Amino acid sequence: MILFANGERVERATVSVLDHGFLFGDSVYEVMRSYSGQLFAVDEHLERLEQSARQIALPIPWKREALAAELQQALAAFVAAHPGKDTRLRLIITRGEGDFSLSTEGCDEPQRFVIAAGLVPLDQEVLVRGLTLKIVKRIRNPHEAISPSIKSGNYLNNVLAFMEAKRSGADDAIFLNHRGHLAEGSTCNLFFVHRGLLKTPALSCGILSGITRSQVLNLCAHHKLEFAEGNYRREDLLNAEEAFITSTTKGVLPVGQVDDHRLSHVFGPVTERLYGLFHDWVRSQLGLEPQND
Ligand code: PMP
Repeated sequence: MILFANGERVERATVSVLDHGFLFGDSVYEVMRSYSGQLFAVDEHLERLEQSARQIALPIPWKREALAAELQQALAAFVAAHPGKDTRLRLIITRGEGDFSLSTEGCDEPQRFVIAAGLVPLDQEVLVRGLTLKIVKRIRNPHEAISPSIKSGNYLNNVLAFMEAKRSGADDAIFLNHRGHLAEGSTCNLFFVHRGLLKTPALSCGILSGITRSQVLNLCAHHKLEFAEGNYRREDLLNAEEAFITSTTKGVLPVGQVDDHRLSHVFGPVTERLYGLFHDWVRSQLGLEPQND
């Protein structure tokens, strides 16, 4: 693992107990990944980081280019130590030290950290059996609480949803929102094919605007694959012909089961098409050969 704290490469990165990131989850972060040694979609991630920071009134005193350069540096250090290994990188910006009350007064020095580690290799069996998702009892926090559009260090609701799903033997959780509509996974977005149409919960359902979600929707538009963004119910997913999830680290991954219900196709035609289109598009963006993974 490679660690950077405020621009310095360090063996151990430490954070003060008075940092509001530690005390209250008052921080923002992004997780990025590399494909064949190249960082992917850095600009989109840094844009979202800035949007998250704006929503919690956390001023980021560093330029986007400087943050991108530091991520490249961390990636280079990781690849030098682990040649050929795909990398995941986490960039965290905390509010910094202050008093241990809620007041942000005096939190004048945001802290930044970069962690680079190996991407957890995909269990190839998942491509055959598909992920098992559990629609959890815990709901996605509504926009009026901590907006799901903020990628903040306060992920306890997601951690608890993930634990709930794991306890029931599932791979991940699916949240409903406070209106009972499908929202998203603990760290992924949801797509499913229902009555022949590709559907995904709308951003207004209270979900993170996933970068992979947007990329997949752009691919659909480009390839004239019809889709709908809307408010959907649990039954729509349970009756889906096929389903998949998207995230930066996982890309496009098929779903095989929701709660106790096996879907009729694990790698149905729409999932397979988008899995291939996404894979080829990523490689073309990075100037890599399509088949060589
Ligand atoms: N939803 C949540 C709650 C997440 O934490 C993530 C991971 N960032 C996603 C969706 C997927 O987003 P992305 O495609 O940008 O990784």
